[in-house]
Amino acid sequence: MLNPVAILGVTVLSGVMAMAVLGSLLSAGIPGVGCWVVANALSVVALILFALQGHAPALFSILAANVLLAATVLTGLEGFRRFFGHTGFPAAGLAGLVAVGAGIAYWTWVTLDFNARVALVSAFHAGIDASVAVIVLRERSRVRAKYSCNFVAVAAALFAMGHAARGMTYGLGLLSQTTLLQVSAINVAFLALGILALPTMSIGMVMLAHDQLAERLRKLASVDDLTGAFARREFLTRADALLRSAERTGTPLTLAAIDIDHFKSINDQHGHAAGDRVLMHFAALVMEDVRTGDVFGRLGGEEFGVVCPATTATEAVVLLNRLRARLAASGYRLGSGAVLHYTFSVGVDQYRAGEPLPALMARADAALYLAKASGRNRVVEAAQVADT
Ligand code: GH3
Ligand code: MG
Ligand code: MG
Repeated sequence: MLNPVAILGVTVLSGVMAMAVLGSLLSAGIPGVGCWVVANALSVVALILFALQGHAPALFSILAANVLLAATVLTGLEGFRRFFGHTGFPAAGLAGLVAVGAGIAYWTWVTLDFNARVALVSAFHAGIDASVAVIVLRERSRVRAKYSCNFVAVAAALFAMGHAARGMTYGLGLLSQTTLLQVSAINVAFLALGILALPTMSIGMVMLAHDQLAERLRKLASVDDLTGAFARREFLTRADALLRSAERTGTPLTLAAIDIDHFKSINDQHGHAAGDRVLMHFAALVMEDVRTGDVFGRLGGEEFGVVCPATTATEAVVLLNRLRARLAASGYRLGSGAVLHYTFSVGVDQYRAGEPLPALMARADAALYLAKASGRNRVVEAAQVADT
């Protein structure tokens, strides 16, 4: 039969490995990962102390071991809370931890009761595991990658049930035992289940952290970090999808090519950093104005694109002229306090059934060229280009 000490030994090693893997993710600054590293470190110490039962004083091998293992799962839970952006002091968990310490001490030195100790510790672990499952299930909708959340939630729920079953078995006196490391089938099974929880939850932690890194990279590639608008490639992908959808549904769709006027002279007069802030100001202004479903991207430099589904070119011209009026009214307040008035030009055209995106963009660009050539600070519809 499997030896309980051997099970503990293997889990200690897996705790060390989990620490190494999670430790490598520390520098990424993912919330909660620090707690998970500490949790694994605590588990390693706790499990070594458990393995010393019969060889070391009860103060270490029973009281400290149990309190440290309880602290392990509590710290793990705190990691999950932080990972999902929860703040605040985990008062209930700490109160539970103190109760575990007091209970263990009482049923070790005042009245020796192994079953009561197991019931108390199991109840604490079941509560913590259930909390992890609840938090992850609640936050699941906010996370793009659902797989890791499902993994952690299912594992945590199963372990909560395992701990609850163990607590009841011992609490109701269905099993009588005097030491933790006694070799019996049911004890080894419960011990294995309880201990399996640590590496399983560590795998879940690594999966969640990995998902967050992947999500960061995806964001970095899809969003222009200066303006917050979609980056060119993402804009083109989304614009293309909207085009296909307009084609299927037969609804109108309009693309606007926008370029800030005389932007070079803004840089020249006020410096490149002020130019950057103007770009940010402009993007924020547009993003306030676009509707849900519109796609706004930075195509490069001071050139932007907006795709408006369910919008005719005539409607888009009205929207863009309204934006022009808003910018003219507000301007941009420079650091010096002076207000910089800048303008932009737009070329607009409506999607024609069956055409590819580059064709639509080329007509919008031609209209933008005409807007520039005819004096800037205006919105020109491509149909007007064809008429001229
Ligand atoms: P026009 O009215 O004809 O569009 O003139 P313009 O000066 O706006 O256009 P031009 O293409 O001559 O100049 C664009 C300038 O935008 C040149 C480039 O240095 C500047 N630029 C491009 N990207 C950035 C950026 O990220 N930050 C800043 N500050 N300037 C940028
Ligand atoms: Mg320009
Ligand atoms: Mg330009």
